[in-house]
Amino acid sequence: MTTDTASPATPPVDAAATVARLNAAFATGRTRPVAWRKAQLRALRRLLTEQEAAFATALHTDLGKSATEAYTGEIGLTINEIDHALRHLDRWLRPRRVPVPLALQPARARTVREPLGTVLIISPWNYPLQLALAPLVGAIAAGNCAVVKPSELAPATSALLAHWLPRVLDRQAVAVVEGAVPETTALLEQRFDHVFYTGNGTVGRIVMAAAARHLTPVTLELGGKSPVVVEPGTDLATAARRIAWGKYMNAGQSCTAPDYVLAIGGTATALERHLTAAIREMYGAEPAKSPDYGRIVTERHFDRLTALLSDGRLVTGGDHDRATRYLAPTVLADVDPDAPVMREEVFGPVLPILRVPDLDAAIAFITARDKPLALYAFTSSAATKRRLTAETSSGALSFGAPNAHLTVPGLPFGGVGESGLGRYHGVYSLDTFSHLKAVLDKPLAADPMRLAYPPFTPLKNRLLRRLL
Ligand code: NAD
Repeated sequence: MTTDTASPATPPVDAAATVARLNAAFATGRTRPVAWRKAQLRALRRLLTEQEAAFATALHTDLGKSATEAYTGEIGLTINEIDHALRHLDRWLRPRRVPVPLALQPARARTVREPLGTVLIISPWNYPLQLALAPLVGAIAAGNCAVVKPSELAPATSALLAHWLPRVLDRQAVAVVEGAVPETTALLEQRFDHVFYTGNGTVGRIVMAAAARHLTPVTLELGGKSPVVVEPGTDLATAARRIAWGKYMNAGQSCTAPDYVLAIGGTATALERHLTAAIREMYGAEPAKSPDYGRIVTERHFDRLTALLSDGRLVTGGDHDRATRYLAPTVLADVDPDAPVMREEVFGPVLPILRVPDLDAAIAFITARDKPLALYAFTSSAATKRRLTAETSSGALSFGAPNAHLTVPGLPFGGVGESGLGRYHGVYSLDTFSHLKAVLDKPLAADPMRLAYPPFTPLKNRLLRRLL
């Protein structure tokens, strides 16, 4: 049973001593060789395959997650991230030549990625394995030491990470600190070289303020209300199935889950029918009995979500049971844009549908609000796709498939504005966890630079203006 005040399973950790230990390890250079990085990534991969069942059990304990979702959304996704990094790391780390202007020749210029040092990864409870380990893959691939702070609201997964990571990874370089606000606050008082935070924007601001004291760069992977635009003329049955799949996985507790639907023209009524059918197809007549349907993480979140159930006409769902933190896959229609369910990120299995007359109204609705982590659209019109691409701003834009973009390893994952700052996955993780050092190498033998030295003459001025 998880509670909002879950206490750490491991004894309190001295944050200052942990960071000092990792900084000392980084200073020895042990994390820099590519061989070390690959060995760590392979060890992490081995852990995930060998302990898959244990991690799946922990995810079920924390969130009622099915074994399939534990694999597709957490273990498998992390393994893919590792494999992608192993496959491309040598190329990503290769210095890049940059052309040198005529005035500076002969010379060579290049960029070199260097690790930052010791980084802090703070992760949330909704994908408690993947959101702790995918950033760690990037931190290790870039050659850093890392402290991982899993979420206290997923205590079984947190305990398992704290147990295993020091056993399979280089414990001089990677540490797990379990805990809640006091432990995270103690960590944030330390000077890190990067802080990577995933969670809500309120805590994101606390993290950024704490990091600012040390001038530490941050990545903030936040959330928000991700809209789904549905246009007439699209295959509504398939759209409804895809929306239901994206919305109700992990009981709606996904940062990229469709938050609400903007149904254009007459699509709303048919969509209600198709969504009801899709939910039944996926979770049966009684989703409470489905082994594939998750539970709400805590009673606080359960109470928050059930308070939203009267914010529109109930199309389907609404059943709930506080003892098991079960809330049925729910669709609300005719929702007022100012209703509470439209004021905050739903982050649960409640899907409001709003009717809008046309695409202009949908775009106006989206752009009048905070920039979302993802925007989804179901349309058969290339012109609509062009307009949504050009006229809206969001972390990601996906046509025809919610959530799926984050499984494309070559795509960056991150928000914009209120939905976050920075990005990761694949090479973008390398960018996040490295400093791109500019290196210039100019031989001393020839010295045409003399042209740039004082005293300046009219002739030098003329030549310099031509050469620069
Ligand atoms: P959470 O409650 O687990 O908090 C996240 C982390 O912040 C935890 O490790 C927690 O210990 C720490 N924390 C909490 N309060 C703190 C404080 N006062 N000071 C320092 N650290 C503190 O998770 P959450 O915030 O409820 O997560 C849900 C939110 O995260 C949603 O908004 C969701 O959209 C967003 N999210 C975003 C992504 C993404 O990748 N962009 C992924 C998952 C979730």
